[in-house]
Amino acid sequence: MNQESIFPKRFKFKTIQPKWINFWKEHDIYAFDSKDKKKWFTIDTPPPFVSGTLHMGHILNHSWIDFVARYHKLKGDHVYFPQGFDCHGLPVELAVSKNYGITKENRERFLEKCIEWVKNNITSMTNQLNELGYSTDWDYTYQTMDDDYKRKVQLSLLDFYEKGLLYREKFPTHFCVNCETSVAKAEVGYQDELGKLWYIRLPLVGREKAYITIATTRPEYMEACVAVLINPRDQRYMELSAAEVEIPFTNRKVRIYMDNNVDMNFGTGIVYVCTYGDEMDIKWKLEYDLDEIQIFTENGLMNYNSKYQGLTISEARDQIVRDLENLNLIEKIEDYEHTIIIHSERSSCRQPIEYLPIHQWFINVKDYTQEIIDSAESMNWYPEKHKQRLIDWANSLDWNWVISRQRVFGTPIPFWYCQQCGMIITPKKEDLPVDPVNAPSPTEVCPKCRSEDIIGEKDVCDCWIDSSITPLVISKWQDNEEFYKRSYLNATVHRPQGYEIIRTWMFYTLFRCKILTGKAPFSEAMINGMVAGPDGRHMSKSYGNIVSPDEVMPQFGTDAIRQWAALGTLGDDYPFDFTWINLQNKEPLSNEFILKEQNTLSKDKFENKYGRRFEHLIGTSRFITKMWNAYRFLYLNLRKIEISDLNIDSTTLTPIDSYYYSQFNNVLRTVTNFYDGYNWHDGFITSRIFFWNEICDNYIEAIKYRFYSENLTIRKDAIKIALNLFYKLLICFGFIMPFITEEIYNNLFKQFIKVDSIHLETWPAPFTGISETSAKNGGILTEIIKILRNIKSKLKIPLNQEISEVIITTPRKEIVKSLNGLGESIKNTIRINNLTIIEKIKFEERGLLPDLKEKIEFLNARIYFFK
Ligand SMILES: [Zn+2]
Ligand SMILES: [Zn+2]
Repeated sequence: MNQESIFPKRFKFKTIQPKWINFWKEHDIYAFDSKDKKKWFTIDTPPPFVSGTLHMGHILNHSWIDFVARYHKLKGDHVYFPQGFDCHGLPVELAVSKNYGITKENRERFLEKCIEWVKNNITSMTNQLNELGYSTDWDYTYQTMDDDYKRKVQLSLLDFYEKGLLYREKFPTHFCVNCETSVAKAEVGYQDELGKLWYIRLPLVGREKAYITIATTRPEYMEACVAVLINPRDQRYMELSAAEVEIPFTNRKVRIYMDNNVDMNFGTGIVYVCTYGDEMDIKWKLEYDLDEIQIFTENGLMNYNSKYQGLTISEARDQIVRDLENLNLIEKIEDYEHTIIIHSERSSCRQPIEYLPIHQWFINVKDYTQEIIDSAESMNWYPEKHKQRLIDWANSLDWNWVISRQRVFGTPIPFWYCQQCGMIITPKKEDLPVDPVNAPSPTEVCPKCRSEDIIGEKDVCDCWIDSSITPLVISKWQDNEEFYKRSYLNATVHRPQGYEIIRTWMFYTLFRCKILTGKAPFSEAMINGMVAGPDGRHMSKSYGNIVSPDEVMPQFGTDAIRQWAALGTLGDDYPFDFTWINLQNKEPLSNEFILKEQNTLSKDKFENKYGRRFEHLIGTSRFITKMWNAYRFLYLNLRKIEISDLNIDSTTLTPIDSYYYSQFNNVLRTVTNFYDGYNWHDGFITSRIFFWNEICDNYIEAIKYRFYSENLTIRKDAIKIALNLFYKLLICFGFIMPFITEEIYNNLFKQFIKVDSIHLETWPAPFTGISETSAKNGGILTEIIKILRNIKSKLKIPLNQEISEVIITTPRKEIVKSLNGLGESIKNTIRINNLTIIEKIKFEERGLLPDLKEKIEFLNARIYFFK
């Protein structure tokens, strides 16, 4: 083979990436050996939701996870690194309804299509992860929709039931009428809204033409009003205690109560309690034992308790306001800026949340917040600051966890219940997984009230119920005792995840795993931020700042993208830089301009005119070229001689070699410290600067001449010494850039190292046996060479052009002596015809003045330079 085909001029990632993906698979490079007795390092990776495609957030997250896996392997840990998929959830149902036109009423067929849709998506996401160079062992993958996974979820629920932590109850829960399901507190968020405040008069019972005025943002709840409250310290309303008011459109009279929690400064200071307008209503309902009047259905329509039956909630609001106006009960209407609760977990919904009292399944989590906090305290957090997020959330929690969802595609809640007395009937363990909708109850008669009115639960589990036992599923809990011990009980368990799911995934996992196993699941957590647009805002279509991996991966390749990922800061949001440009003149364009053009031009026209420049990836690609060229240079020189191994004797190190070897040792110590704390950014920056500025720009320049020496031993030693240093550096970069390092390894080092893949290597050890004096002299030499190269470039002399003379003077005798021993190296590197190093010189005696003079402060020396 010729050199061009082995080590071509350019690194062609498009052909190289698939080649190594196949090689790694065929040679089981990332296979996990479960027989190994060493202590395990288990990574509980986040199972991405099966949307079908990875976004930049996944790329950041999963690159980091892969760094963790590869780095720990390099450091000698026995790394167990499985990757699963989170299959259930509302978006699957919505996609299936939309793409296949099947509704969830057609249950069997609907579920079939959900599974089909998910399977296709998993295939494409698996390919994308492979393209990312992901080093998981796919033999250990899982899908939350698998029977085995569902069995474990149901087993865990049975266990919670037996411990008395799981119950069924009618309770007002956060409910999204748009998605027609209850949602957990962690799935709701706040949104500011400019609304109205209606001041409504309510007639006082038994007092002619006497009214009180309440102020509300939700007049549509009028028919569900069950009490009116006033603060007892409010001087304005002293005489109203225990009075009654009439509720319009109903025959109901409700009592006025005095309550210290009423805000006297809001509206008129009089509030009406409705079931349920907000969380305070729930508290007051319980406190005063008020009636409960439900006025709308699960799909958001007014029900039989309302004269507006059939209207949507917002239609009912408009109608009620009109009717109240007709009754002359509206006193005034003000614009009002307030905060409403919305369904924020699904960015496609963001509709207002209502409180709907329905039968739900709950898990008691409120009583265990201290245990969750203790688990969090027992872990190492990278970075430490995100631990507080979890603790604050745990402390603020005042609701139990609603685990039932009124959907179809999910893990079935594995219980039946008696419709007469509410008794819960549990499945037999050996029958799991069950779907109580289809499977008969294990008992036909209620054990408590003897009723035969038993029904299987049709609600399914919240998807956090699935995903909050991932550490147990990957550790084969309840299946394989030995595996469970090694991967969970006795292992270091690492949890990588984004900060935005600390209050859900992290919180619930800490809770459930501790309850189920008695042990906190994690030893440590590494937290990443979100990927933002170049403007720092989160990526969103409406901001025009979205970048998809499909756009940049084919253009720049995986190693460039993974470098970008490595440069993100631990725990913080990370902007993805790019600039919109005019494709004709390459002029940069503002975001506002682009948004306008996107709205006016067709997609084709827009794409012909405008494109993006990805500055950050252009930068990381340059480093790839730099690396490729440096190793290729070594390869071309290696080809000219024959060596059979890379063994070196430290006595053959020149001062330059000794200096760079010891510099490498320093850098290695620094970056190891950074990487041990998952500080990819500082570790990678440090090693990249060292490689680029010191190794490529200075070291190679200073040793080059030895590659061309007439003396074969000098040539062989020089190349071997260089290869040793470059090999250690290659390993340092391997876990961040798996493709280029594997290719270089294969082209240059495999013939000597004889291991199948660089990814089976161990983290480099520092060089030993370096002479301190030699390294010190090498440092001085390096400084002098840098100064002389600077002079050459100042005088615009090409680096390879020979110059006639350099004189270095210094009054320090010992320096003169040691520099004289290094003269050869300076002469050859800078290409100087005559080099003199002496104590002082009288130019009058020479009759010729130098072209340039320069001081070397640290040696108290001067350089005289003659072209
Ligand atoms: Zn919703
Ligand atoms: Zn019963």
